[in-house]
Amino acid sequence: MQKGKINVTGEDIFPIIKKFLYSDHEIFLRELISNAVDATQKIKILSSKGEYEDELGNLTVRVKIDKKAKTITVSDAGIGMDKEEIDKYINQIAFSGATDFIEKHKDDANAIIGHFGLGFYSSFMVSDSVEIISKSYKTEKPAVRWECDGSPDFTLEEVEKENRGTDIILHIDKDSENFLEDSKIEELLNKYCKFLPVEIAFGKEKEWKDNKSVETDKDHIINNTTPAWTKKPADLTDDDYKNFYKELYPGSFEEPLFYIHLNVDYPFNLTGILYFPKFKNTIEIQKNKIQLFQRQVFVTDSVEGIVPEFLTLLHGVLDSPDIPLNVSRSYLQSDRNVKKYQAILPKKLPTV
Ligand code: ADP
Repeated sequence: MQKGKINVTGEDIFPIIKKFLYSDHEIFLRELISNAVDATQKIKILSSKGEYEDELGNLTVRVKIDKKAKTITVSDAGIGMDKEEIDKYINQIAFSGATDFIEKHKDDANAIIGHFGLGFYSSFMVSDSVEIISKSYKTEKPAVRWECDGSPDFTLEEVEKENRGTDIILHIDKDSENFLEDSKIEELLNKYCKFLPVEIAFGKEKEWKDNKSVETDKDHIINNTTPAWTKKPADLTDDDYKNFYKELYPGSFEEPLFYIHLNVDYPFNLTGILYFPKFKNTIEIQKNKIQLFQRQVFVTDSVEGIVPEFLTLLHGVLDSPDIPLNVSRSYLQSDRNVKKYQAILPKKLPTV
């Protein structure tokens, strides 16, 4: 077994992750699932190019809670990592000049994680220790297990693992036990992962049998991998748009007045569907109904200062690969691409 210290240039990140990030702890789940989805997309690409010739198998990303062991596990059947890759991608963290930045942003986990590229390490916000068990798609490489207890010390050893891919096992700390509740995880999956492009399973479907709810062996898939905005307008009916509105706003009984499907590729890439809601006489205009996505990963639904003011009255989704995922709102508002949206979006809308 190899033992070592995580190679952090600059300061020790763990006290920072543990103590300075008071809010936004929940984004650990988005980060881990985004990594799992990326790894899955990568194996699909290798396979389509003929660089991976084995069966792809079931590519569903799985989230499991073990209440007794107090763990949350995120598993994928993606490209996996071998020993050298764990060393390169996980053990080496560039983390210099951190103090000033952290002092300024200590309430904003998004900003810190985005600034330092710490997606995976956000798991330490809620964990005493974290394990990675991974088997690379390169069949000659043995599977490995990495573990770290929230100090810079880690262990890395070869283990047996049958299937390709990665399991990330979080040993949840005492202050974060609320994340061991099914309802909490379901809520977060719904918030961040509802439209991810790879199936995410959480538990099994239930059915009503003999007057009680029982589990079936069918996976409970929490996301729609092909939401309406990713399809061509020609392939969608009026009902598809209305149904998607209901999917976005399950609590809403009103149908939208009308909608537009955006597909902009110059001067930036942007897709989306904007709905013009029916306002009732009692003016209850709801702002912040537009949801912002980056390649189907939810970023934010507080879009004031991000989209032009008048658009905040609309509902719907905007998705752009150019939107940074891990950023604070103040950063987003000053982002160059986001500034471009403000100038260009109004020109892409029909005049009414
Ligand atoms: P980022 O995702 O922003 O690069 P992370 O700290 O989240 O930063 O991850 C660092 C790297 O570790 C990733 O770029 C990827 O190469 C690797 N990695 C993380 N999670 C996985 C996973 N589930 N499967 C394969 N590789 C992964």
